[in-house]
Amino acid sequence: MQNKKKVKNAKSKSNSSKKNIGKKVAKVKKVKVDNRLLLETFFIDSLKDIYWAEKLLTKTLPKMAKAATTEELAEGFLSHAKETEEHVMRLEEIFKLLDKKAQAQKCDAMEGLKKEGEKILEETEKNTFTRDAALIIAAQKVEHYEIATYGSLVQLALTLGKRDVAYILNQTLQEEKDTDKKLTALAENHINEEALLESDLEEKENEKINKAS
Ligand code: FE
Ligand code: FE
Repeated sequence: MQNKKKVKNAKSKSNSSKKNIGKKVAKVKKVKVDNRLLLETFFIDSLKDIYWAEKLLTKTLPKMAKAATTEELAEGFLSHAKETEEHVMRLEEIFKLLDKKAQAQKCDAMEGLKKEGEKILEETEKNTFTRDAALIIAAQKVEHYEIATYGSLVQLALTLGKRDVAYILNQTLQEEKDTDKKLTALAENHINEEALLESDLEEKENEKINKAS
């Protein structure tokens, strides 16, 4: 008799644990669905954010080219401005592929980086290598922000199974990386060194003025 009771209890226990497992599975599935939705929303929001940033850069890069002292740096900014226009168009293509309206969402980070660039122009003199060295720093910060954004968006697109979108984003990512390398080369090859010589020269001139007065 007692044995029968035990068997009955064991059966009802296993039934209730089966029910619990069922509930758990349902819960996990629901979370999975919600997470996909959340990730997709985050993905679209990030696209809107970088769309705003790229549009801003199409206007900022020509201004940086005008402000640059060396022709090489000015040309670099102008050719990247053209690429940036392409970046904007690629994002519009992506919105189309995703059946979403191309919408820009203010990117606080890029606005901050732009303000930093403007401060450089206030703090450095026109036609100096020092200005170019500082402009390169500002531009590389922008490129690194873009590299971080596009790099993570490529991965997220792959996770969400959007290979066509990942492919387009990766094209832009490579161009941002190339631009960053070109800027490093310009700084390394001569601009930073020239800026250093320039500041040494300025120091000597100041010394002369101080001695004369
Ligand atoms: Fe870009
Ligand atoms: Fe860029």
